[in-house]
Amino acid sequence: MITEPSAYFPTGYRSARSAFLKACAAAGLRGIARAHPSAAARDGKPLFLDTATIGPRDAGSALLLISGTHGVEGYFGSGVQTGLLHEGLARRVPKTAKVILLHALNPYGFSWDRRVNEDNADINRNFVDHASPPVNKAYEALADAIAPKDISDDALTAANAKLRAYSETHGAFALQEAISRGQYDFPDGLYFGGRRPSWSARMLYDIFRDELAQVKKLMVIDFHTGLGIHGEGEMISEDLPGSAPYLRAKRLWGARVKSSEAGESVSAPLTGTIDKAFATWMRTGELTFAALEMGTVAAREVFLALRKDNWLHRIAGAAHSAATSIRREIRGAFYPDSRDWRRKAWAAAHEVVGAALEAL
Ligand SMILES: [Zn+2]
Repeated sequence: MITEPSAYFPTGYRSARSAFLKACAAAGLRGIARAHPSAAARDGKPLFLDTATIGPRDAGSALLLISGTHGVEGYFGSGVQTGLLHEGLARRVPKTAKVILLHALNPYGFSWDRRVNEDNADINRNFVDHASPPVNKAYEALADAIAPKDISDDALTAANAKLRAYSETHGAFALQEAISRGQYDFPDGLYFGGRRPSWSARMLYDIFRDELAQVKKLMVIDFHTGLGIHGEGEMISEDLPGSAPYLRAKRLWGARVKSSEAGESVSAPLTGTIDKAFATWMRTGELTFAALEMGTVAAREVFLALRKDNWLHRIAGAAHSAATSIRREIRGAFYPDSRDWRRKAWAAAHEVVGAALEAL
């Protein structure tokens, strides 16, 4: 009997997946494994996106829990999913409702300790019309400074000076938005939304169509890390304050709910997100969507880790001698090696999932 919640948190993609599948089996759930058609895991073996469903197929209301949208952030979401199963999630779901656990939406990123997928694409910027994607002029102006091709101290100092000048003119939040909003013109850059629907995006749509399109009431929690204050969890909504879905989110999750579109959140407004995709897919039913975002380390540390990871994979190559330390750095930025942080992350997740289960 595990009582220490941090024990649910995994040490790698492979062990995370087997712990999740074991917990599903112990709860009497049969999963569906979707194998990635091309990308391989860091251990050379296949990658999978797994789903498991609790409750009847024709349920009128549903809760979807997504882990690993941003690869390396999947340690958190996976740990939560496995922990919830161990603590009797299957017994807490009302008879007329269902809960779908989607494990490792971006298994490549999870396995390689990267935020992006096998094509350097950010899954949570990928849901756009790729024939005419959104334009991000501010990113364009800063592209070389955001994702430098040289990460020596001198080069980074020069790049940071350029970003600081932008921030002094336009404000710190405008800089954050320029960097992280999503961009579709620099495939080697950061927060690249891709040139086409990713495998993960297509699988997510399939799951929606097969399992959720007929549901009258859908709640989604997408588990993320890396933004905000260490150990604090925010429920990021992309709905505007006063709107019906925002008010529903507030009723469920209270003060944790912050609208990124209204500038309340630790996140800037974003393009091509899963939240926006679900809002267009869901034609008749009622959708309440939030990303649980757990703060980890300082924003500048997260950003530096992302730039180094980008340089490693796009310029230097994964076999470079700096690979191990960069990998450790990016993993630490999204998954602090701290029992205290994991307890807080677990507590926040447990609370928001509990509130959603009550409302099913
Ligand atoms: Zn994320």
